[in-house]
Amino acid sequence: MKRLLVVLLLLVAAPVSAVELDLRGHFTQGGLVYGRTCADCQVVFQGRQVPVTAEGDFIIGFGRDAVLAKELLVQSPDGQVRQQQLQLEPRDYRIQRIDGISQRLMEPAPEDLERIGREAEEIAAVRQQLSMNRDFLESFSWPLTGRITGVYGSQRIFNGEPRQPHFGIDIAAPTGTPVKTPAGGVVTYAHPGMFFAGTTLVVDHGHGLSSTFLHLHEMLVEVGQEVTQGQIIATVGATGRVTGPHLDWRLNWFDVRLDPALVVGAMPN
Ligand SMILES: [Zn+2]
Repeated sequence: MKRLLVVLLLLVAAPVSAVELDLRGHFTQGGLVYGRTCADCQVVFQGRQVPVTAEGDFIIGFGRDAVLAKELLVQSPDGQVRQQQLQLEPRDYRIQRIDGISQRLMEPAPEDLERIGREAEEIAAVRQQLSMNRDFLESFSWPLTGRITGVYGSQRIFNGEPRQPHFGIDIAAPTGTPVKTPAGGVVTYAHPGMFFAGTTLVVDHGHGLSSTFLHLHEMLVEVGQEVTQGQIIATVGATGRVTGPHLDWRLNWFDVRLDPALVVGAMPN
């Protein structure tokens, strides 16, 4: 009897938050997590007010080198706050050596550096845009099938020199192979020839989630156009800093770079 009483007291004393919160996804560096909370709840993560749908759906993402201990705050309309601790799994990233990059791309001239800076700012601004599309809730499909020649996060060594890590997934395919959008959305950026990225498209899937497609040959959509999952938006090319034709598909949650391979699952045969 005495023991039962202790158990009951513990149950009453346990800090049970009344704020509904359900999380699923990849709790790892480069991971994307889908959340559900009450419709009028406010969600804050890393100092960012996270958009929530009318049904209470939201997403958060973790960068390549994200600190492993995170906190998510959810506040209900009546002022109750839930502080949810998240623990991420660390990743081990590969080292990838690529030789045969032209000297112009290895050591850009001053006028090229100016252009590189301008293009970087432009695309960073596009990734910060917030739209309330709900396409981010779709399960992602591969933009094309082919041999994977580059993975997320790898440390890159170009012509023997360490450079920026790789943030996309590279899929080798002949020039002209159709590229399908892995989820629906709106085209928010189309550039015919960026210095490093070549011909580039961005599709906004909503709530800060966007896909970038690099090194394209042809773009088949325009800025402002709505696209649906599986729609052919471009063809594979070899534009920008590349050694051969391939698609580099990147996934972003605002300025945070995610691993597309985690959201899309295994490549079909
Ligand atoms: Zn790449």
